[in-house]
Amino acid sequence: MTATYITTTIPYVNARPHIGHALELVQADVLARYHRGRGDDVRFQAGTDDNSLKNVLAAQAAGVGVPEFVDRNADAFGSLGGALSLTVDDFIRTSRDRRHRPGVEAFWRACADDLYRQRYAGLYCTGCEQFYTPAELPGGRCPEHGTEPESVSEENWFFRLSRYAAPLREAITSGRLRIEPAGRRHEVLALIDGGLADFSVSRPATRAGGWGIPVPGDPGQVIYVWFDALCNYVTALGYGQGADGAAHGEAYQRWWAGQGSRVQLLGKGVLRFHAVFWPAMLLASGQPLPTAIFVHDYLTADGRKISKSAAGADLLEPAALAAEYGADAVRWWLLREVPRAGDADFTVERLIARADDELANGLGNLVNRVVAMVHRYRDGRIPSPAPVPPGGEDLDAAIRLAGDRVGTALAGFDFRQATAAVWAIADEANRFINRVRPWELARAGHAGRLDAVLYLLGRACTAAGRELVPFLPDAAARVTAQCTPGGDGRLPEPSPVFRRLAAGARSLPAAAGFHVEDPQQEQDHQGADDRPDDADRVEAVNAQRAVLDQVLQEAPDEGADDAEHAGAEAPDGIAAWHEQPRDGAGDEADDQQHDDEYEHAGLASQLADFM
Ligand SMILES: [Zn+2]
Repeated sequence: MTATYITTTIPYVNARPHIGHALELVQADVLARYHRGRGDDVRFQAGTDDNSLKNVLAAQAAGVGVPEFVDRNADAFGSLGGALSLTVDDFIRTSRDRRHRPGVEAFWRACADDLYRQRYAGLYCTGCEQFYTPAELPGGRCPEHGTEPESVSEENWFFRLSRYAAPLREAITSGRLRIEPAGRRHEVLALIDGGLADFSVSRPATRAGGWGIPVPGDPGQVIYVWFDALCNYVTALGYGQGADGAAHGEAYQRWWAGQGSRVQLLGKGVLRFHAVFWPAMLLASGQPLPTAIFVHDYLTADGRKISKSAAGADLLEPAALAAEYGADAVRWWLLREVPRAGDADFTVERLIARADDELANGLGNLVNRVVAMVHRYRDGRIPSPAPVPPGGEDLDAAIRLAGDRVGTALAGFDFRQATAAVWAIADEANRFINRVRPWELARAGHAGRLDAVLYLLGRACTAAGRELVPFLPDAAARVTAQCTPGGDGRLPEPSPVFRRLAAGARSLPAAAGFHVEDPQQEQDHQGADDRPDDADRVEAVNAQRAVLDQVLQEAPDEGADDAEHAGAEAPDGIAAWHEQPRDGAGDEADDQQHDDEYEHAGLASQLADFM
């Protein structure tokens, strides 16, 4: 069994979590669930960075004791596990966890040959907790925070990073340490080629307010927060804490020192720490490197950088969003809309529109229609296996290829491509229904063809439920339940697997900035559905904001359409009111464009800041 160790970065807890934090956690959870589903042995670790000076400053500003302040916010991060349906195996808190401090001290001693003490004067950003050279500060300001760093002169311990340029370069170019996307790999190689300066790994205890881990043998200094924080990936595994004479704990041997993969997820702002400092520290201590680093970009909200102090910021708390709209909707937005490279803008309207378009109207509608038809035409029993009927080739391909497509996409950390492969099943199935019109087959008495159609549609729903598991585990369970025959061989009665969000969201206060568009207005009506649109009917449905199951139960209008929909009482209204938008291909093109832009334009200017 392949051992797969997946980590997220441990955020500062100087404030409560926002939607940006949820991105990395959800991505890591998808990887963890996917690998578990493949039979791999998986450990998914998250946590919080409690020992940051930023926490101290924020606690002072809030007039709260540091431990109490840190505990409160760390708890909010910890509770994201339940709110977002995360399968975190281990959650480390660097101030509280008894495994952390002895591990960091052991790691420090293991690096002793590369540590030396020296006076240093430089420009220090408290926000970043790092020294900058003037060349790294456009306009004299921190590129992350836009603030002017303070001038600091003090005696510190330094780590001899300069010694590791060649081995780091070799690890990355050989693929032993994979960095994705490629633009980030080039960025790291350029950093290395630009020359690696030794970096400070401690600070005077007085400046840290006594918060942090003292340097072993030099209690006047505390270990620099980055050195301390980076060690969390191995201290939680029992690094330096072996029993019976072993140097390290069993978990460390299994998850870090063994043959499996060690996958680390992080945001672009901490790339240098994770792709240069951390691997160099591991080389210095004689330990293996991560096998892969995936770097995501940032989210903005309503076009602005997400600020923890902004008015209404509580609405961007992932737990609050999940409570209001469901974990499925939050996860789906993060996975479907955030590109592999490039920033993404979060708004509540987009979250609602995406969930309603694809989950309620797309997948949920599909499952309901199929289950309703199986009940109406076949007494709840999915027909026996039959060859793919004419017109079902694309759907059959979407079903057969979904697993491989998901696997390939996730191997490249492309969550949008992966979810597009699942969405393609629902999209093709809805097109197929509109094309073959099962209700007409039923009316005309084509029993054999109707069996083949319903069998293929049953396969589609089952496949969608199965492939959805890593992405939307809760929804996947509901879809699968709808498609699984009971003891009597019949499917359960149809019940909605997704609720529509748009109607409910209208009750939210306008002051909160919610502007909710009816997602149906964004549908495009072209495509395989050649049924003449009944504009009045569509409009009437929109106006009512009818819930899905009501739509399914209502009969279409009388009149000219009557002959066309002769059998159109009750579930024959199963015909969809509109085609779903087909945007998977567009997403991929966007992604490619982001990658290209990044490679060709953004990179040079970003690198200039570092060199
Ligand atoms: Zn900064």
